[in-house]
Amino acid sequence: MIQKGHCSCKQINYSFDNKKIINSFHCHCEDCQRSTGAGKASILVIKKSNFNLNGEPKFYGTKGSMGSTVNRGFCSNCGSGIFSYLKELPNFLFLKVGTLQDSSWVKIESNYFTKSCNEWNMPDEQLKSFKGNPNLLENIKTLIKSLN
Ligand SMILES: [Zn+2]
Ligand SMILES: [Zn+2]
Repeated sequence: MIQKGHCSCKQINYSFDNKKIINSFHCHCEDCQRSTGAGKASILVIKKSNFNLNGEPKFYGTKGSMGSTVNRGFCSNCGSGIFSYLKELPNFLFLKVGTLQDSSWVKIESNYFTKSCNEWNMPDEQLKSFKGNPNLLENIKTLIKSLN
């Protein structure tokens, strides 16, 4: 089903087919905590070619845990974080679930970076947990190969 989302001021909006979602996770890494101002970021992974974007986010690059550069996209008008991508893997987007118009259908599969969880925001114990990043980069490389 086609899903839509937008930033607070709606200058940036997007749509995608939720059958195209590749992965979903809560990320408790310190960088996600910093950029969301919360205990974690809740993320959907989708191929860039399956994501229709209207508007131009501004990007801020930070060094990720694996030495990769994470470009964090946000609305330059209202500041809402919308999606990120790795400089090394520009064809995949990491979409912030909270920007969806309706996120009731979202099922999160796992917790990443539980090693940096805070006591006030512990990982969901019903989900698979990873202390760090479960070789996301490698998984995606394998995925790209299988898609090509
Ligand atoms: Zn905005
Ligand atoms: Zn993170």
